[in-house]
Amino acid sequence: MKLRKAISIIISKFTIFTLHLLRRGGTTLPGKIALKIYPGILESIAKDFEIIMVTGTNGKTTTTRIIEEILKNNNINYITNKSGANLLSGITTLFIQAVSPGGKPRHKVALIESDEAAFNQVTKHITPKAVVVTNFFRDQLDRYGELYSTLNAVKSGLEHTAENTALILNADDSMCASLGEGTSKPVFYYGISCEAYQGNSENVNSDAMFCIFCKSKYEYSNHIYGHLGSFYCTGCGYKRPAADLECTEIQEAGSSFTTVKWTCTSSLLQEKKEFVTRINLPGLYNVYNAMAAAALGLTLKYSADTISEALQSFESGFGRMESINVGDKTVKLILVKNPTGFNQVLSFLALDKQPLNISFIINDNLADGTDISWLWDVDFEQLNSVADNIDRLVTSGIRGEDMAVRLKYSGLDTSKIKIIKDYNMLIDEGLKGTRSGGCYYILPTYTAMLEIRGILKKKFNLKEFWK
Ligand SMILES: [Zn+2]
Repeated sequence: MKLRKAISIIISKFTIFTLHLLRRGGTTLPGKIALKIYPGILESIAKDFEIIMVTGTNGKTTTTRIIEEILKNNNINYITNKSGANLLSGITTLFIQAVSPGGKPRHKVALIESDEAAFNQVTKHITPKAVVVTNFFRDQLDRYGELYSTLNAVKSGLEHTAENTALILNADDSMCASLGEGTSKPVFYYGISCEAYQGNSENVNSDAMFCIFCKSKYEYSNHIYGHLGSFYCTGCGYKRPAADLECTEIQEAGSSFTTVKWTCTSSLLQEKKEFVTRINLPGLYNVYNAMAAAALGLTLKYSADTISEALQSFESGFGRMESINVGDKTVKLILVKNPTGFNQVLSFLALDKQPLNISFIINDNLADGTDISWLWDVDFEQLNSVADNIDRLVTSGIRGEDMAVRLKYSGLDTSKIKIIKDYNMLIDEGLKGTRSGGCYYILPTYTAMLEIRGILKKKFNLKEFWK
């Protein structure tokens, strides 16, 4: 076994090296080969790492990146996977890269983002110290039944974990919170309190309308968004659990940040304590991501101060959104400059309920970065979850063709993808293709943004359009 393990590691490392020489960023092949040679390889090398896993429908990547920031603030030596590389083979590649040829770990912590389906598979091989579950939402194409099978996949994935694996769960999501019912594992809940935000409880748009235990219809004493909120069941008494850590006040909600007051109870800290933090991200959904990451940090005994700092310094890369109104339509300009920020923007767009009309303008000048291979690290695949909602995707800029190729590889409907190199034509067609009252999104790299701003300014005779 020892020999097979060694051979498996060495051949896999050699494959990684070769792919690298060929400038192919393959993340799955080396792991696939390693597992083929020695199916126990992942289990065998991962046991020496302290493993944190993040799963759920929305917010995985952001939550993972905030946790990464917490680890950095605590000088922890860690490895983490890129969103997209979350299948068994990709994760195996990650671990193999992080051990010496003899199988010794070079890092202390492994931070793994995993989609819900892969989670069940991956936990058969690795044992996390803590698991964060963000939420369960129905993808546009899913049926209701599939939402429950996603929940069940995570549930059975958790059964493979250790007795002391800590679960960090969203209290406001009836599906997610149900994972903490009847388990003997340590459970910590996070959420947004009624005092912080009152949504319209009349109008609960629900993916999870009926009690998971008794099928009665949930009532809500407070509603945040989607099916998230203070739910309770009059049938069996199942209700939102008390949160160990929650946002208790939203002091300011900016277009690129949110200032919140958050509290944690003695289950996480020695004594109940309150913090005010300016989270470097906009939107309620990011408050959940921040609270999830904070709860994980406290569960692993990192200091509350380093956690609060991480929430403030977290570099989202989510450029400031600039908008102008043209007739009854809005043009929104969002700078894209790295995979993390780009992913943020894409998850933001995926939440938009309007039909999506997006132009990607990619340059490779010095100020943009001359190597555009980073586009392959951006999770454009997440747009598949809103595929029905996409009207059209146009690519442009010096590397417009490469961008179109990247979109095609993400599996999106190619008939909706078009290249328009002329900026004037791009804007005209973009606006024409936007429904009245709708938004036209332009996602440029840095120098492309300067060019497009100039053209918009001239075209619509604007003095200063961005605010
Ligand atoms: Zn019930």
